[in-house]
Amino acid sequence: MRPSAGRVAVVTGAASGIGLAVARRLARDGARVAVFDLDAAAARAAAERIEADGGSALPAAVDVADRASIDEGLGAVRERFGPVSILVNSAGKDGFKKFLNITEEAWQRIVAVNLTGTFHCCQAVVPDMAEAGWGRIVTISSSSAQSGQPFMTHYVASKAGVVGFTKALALELGPQGITVNTIPPGFIDTPMTRRNEARGFLGDGVDHHAARTPVRRPGTPEDIAAACAFLVSEEAGYVTGQVFGVNGGRNT
Ligand code: NAP
Repeated sequence: MRPSAGRVAVVTGAASGIGLAVARRLARDGARVAVFDLDAAAARAAAERIEADGGSALPAAVDVADRASIDEGLGAVRERFGPVSILVNSAGKDGFKKFLNITEEAWQRIVAVNLTGTFHCCQAVVPDMAEAGWGRIVTISSSSAQSGQPFMTHYVASKAGVVGFTKALALELGPQGITVNTIPPGFIDTPMTRRNEARGFLGDGVDHHAARTPVRRPGTPEDIAAACAFLVSEEAGYVTGQVFGVNGGRNT
């Protein structure tokens, strides 16, 4: 039997990069997967790709910063697939600005998507998991929350918030059979990373950083999906509240 057979998974930011790889992997592992993303057309395309591979997927245009939009998306998921047992929060927004040039609006939007969005999605699905006495939540934070990163104080603060949030929620939900862990990815080759390279935010670029990474390559979205597949599995039931680094050895 496939490891996530019978599970209903919600993956946010699932139309691109890490979220897309996680959604595809969980579908391959037997879960029915809700593809939540800002962009309706991209969410549809991702869901079609999963179904073409033999999986079950439901696309939904959801802004994780907007609780009403999440609740509407979850309504469709529960109607089509049933209660949610797995949540992976991959939707994220980054930003590069000198500290003194960060506007309050930019600060608020990044916190709203990365931190408050994670709060909203978790709060909206935990009742399903509590009712079942089983649940798996994985938040996607960032290795920059471990190391710091210049010109990203808003992003790094939001992701450090996700790490603390994950630890606290894990302690609270452990007695209900729900695990909560965070993966802080480090240097993964995704559209977000390539956009930043094209804008000159990555210094000498992806190849230069790869050469300085202990495993001598950038990470792939599938590297994160593999870690995620373990964390949402039955056999990871004793793993909770953990910061599960996937970064090629860049942060230890
Ligand atoms: P990506 O390719 O840009 O994918 C992120 C997805 O999230 C995009 O489809 C994006 O849609 C969507 N999204 C953004 N805001 C949203 C919102 N409010 N509601 C719903 N969906 C939203 O980026 P990625 O590299 O895969 O990043 C995935 C996660 O990993 C993010 O949380 C990121 O911070 C984290 N991370 C990535 C790296 C890395 O090296 N790539 C390192 C550390 C942490 P749009 O494209 O329409 O905005």
